[in-house]
Amino acid sequence: MTAEVINGKELAQEIRKEMKEEVLQLKEQGITPHLTVILIGDDPASKSYVRGKEKASYETGISSELIELPSSTTEKELLNRIDDLNHDDNVDGILVQLPLPSHIQEQHVIEAISPEKDVDGFHPISIGRMMTGKDTFLPCTPNGIITMLKSRNIQLEGKHAVIIGRSNIVGKPVGQLLLNENATVTYCHSRTKDLMEHTTTADILIAAVGKPNVIDAKYVKDGAAVIDVGINRLDDGSLTGDVDFDSVKDKASYITPVPQGVGPMTITMLLKNTIKAARGIHQ
Ligand code: NDP
Repeated sequence: MTAEVINGKELAQEIRKEMKEEVLQLKEQGITPHLTVILIGDDPASKSYVRGKEKASYETGISSELIELPSSTTEKELLNRIDDLNHDDNVDGILVQLPLPSHIQEQHVIEAISPEKDVDGFHPISIGRMMTGKDTFLPCTPNGIITMLKSRNIQLEGKHAVIIGRSNIVGKPVGQLLLNENATVTYCHSRTKDLMEHTTTADILIAAVGKPNVIDAKYVKDGAAVIDVGINRLDDGSLTGDVDFDSVKDKASYITPVPQGVGPMTITMLLKNTIKAARGIHQ
């Protein structure tokens, strides 16, 4: 079997085209969705992600503003900035680019963002609403993954989904969204005994590990849909996923590439949340 490649870049472009129309209609009603991104310090990967978000916002007609703060910014200063943005009626969505310098506690920052402007979907209220199946801002990468699966009408109900990784931003929430879609979900992580025993029973296999090419064909059941979330930079500067694309593509039914896979979908779901925030319809 040769897998069908789900190209996230192409799918993201299709969705953004529809969003552009939606934003135009909102603008006719006097509403311009506005995203404010806070970047602290000068981590090159974070800068590149933020640039991608700004570019995508611009292309979709969403207004975006970048607040760059030095890495010496204290937690209190950051929380004060967030508080100002929470009270600014012109700001629909607030995103603080992670990771943060070690002297700032990530959870304090996540919880400081108003749930009404939580376009990353990381606030405990957003997570709780997601867990109970209520309408909310869904976390962007997990929502992008579900959108990719649905774009190919891949059946989720009753299927066995195995997630490798249990982070709060990817692994845990993507498992919850798959459960909401009536899949049977298994989480694997670094303490899982005999990883392969689990992954080879997966109809849908999601790799969110952060280790280059660790999931090869041996880990994959014939005909599985394989989603590669990993973004790993190799010594030569190139990017690769967690999945060994070349071996797995001959065994899976669907596969996502890296780059041009989940990454562009993550940004697209951020834009979707920003439009939702501007409409004020999440609760
Ligand atoms: P984390 O480092 O937070 O989580 C990695 C997870 O993988 C952990 O749960 C860890 O287990 C598990 N793990 C590590 N090694 C193994 C192993 N050998 N076997 C089984 N499980 C293992 O990473 P993130 O979830 O934040 O990100 C994962 C990857 O996805 C990264 O490459 C990241 O860059 C990428 N990413 C891509 C995005 C996109 O838009 N495409 C967005 C966000 C992330 P344990 O919990 O036990 O430590």
